[in-house]
Order: sequence, then C-alpha cells, then structure tokens
Amino acid sequence: MTNDSSGRIPSSTGSQQSPGVSRRQLFRDATAFAGGVAALATTMIPQRAEAGAMTKQAAGYQATPKGDQRCDGCSLFQAPASCKFVAGDISSSGWCRLYVKKS
Ligand code: SF4
Repeated sequence: MTNDSSGRIPSSTGSQQSPGVSRRQLFRDATAFAGGVAALATTMIPQRAEAGAMTKQAAGYQATPKGDQRCDGCSLFQAPASCKFVAGDISSSGWCRLYVKKS
C-alpha cells in the first residue's frame, strides 16, 4: 500500500481521484472501536464477586433455617454474622438459595 504526500491511503481501487481514507481517520476509527470493545467487555464479563455483594432479597435470604440447612452450616458463612456473598448481618441460623453445605 502506497501513500501519497497527503498522508492518505489510496482506496482499494487505487484510483488517484478517490480521496481514500486518511491514516488519522483510520487511527481514530480503530481507537474508537478498541474503546468500544473494552467497554463492552467490562460490562459483559462477570466481575469477581465481592464479599456481601448480593442483597438478601436477591438471595432469598430468610432469618430462619430451611430444614437442616442454616448459615452456620454453609461454606459461605463468615462468623460471627456475615456471608461471602450476601450483604448485611447474617444470622447463623438463617438460610438463602445460595446455601452450600460445608464439606
Ligand atoms: S445460606 Fe450461605 S450463602 Fe446464604 S446467607 Fe447463609 S451463609 Fe450466606
């Protein structure tokens, strides 16, 4: 690909009459595209779960056990009263849908 003195890249037809695309415009478009991809990736890739990031409501938390399942038997429970995923004070005798039995 050859460039003329105007800094423009000839169009694919090679016509001298066609203005083609300037390197500056090409760079701007590529930069905008890369920025858009980065922004999209940021929103689409799940972020690492922060401690207590989910609301009690979203987790279906209740302050009472569900059968023999209770927070102090869950691997996500952090004594004395918190959870790795569910925000707020968590009762050791509570329960939510994210329950994972301690191994
Ligand atoms: S059951 Fe587990 S995940 Fe759910 S609130 Fe209790 S400790 Fe957290």
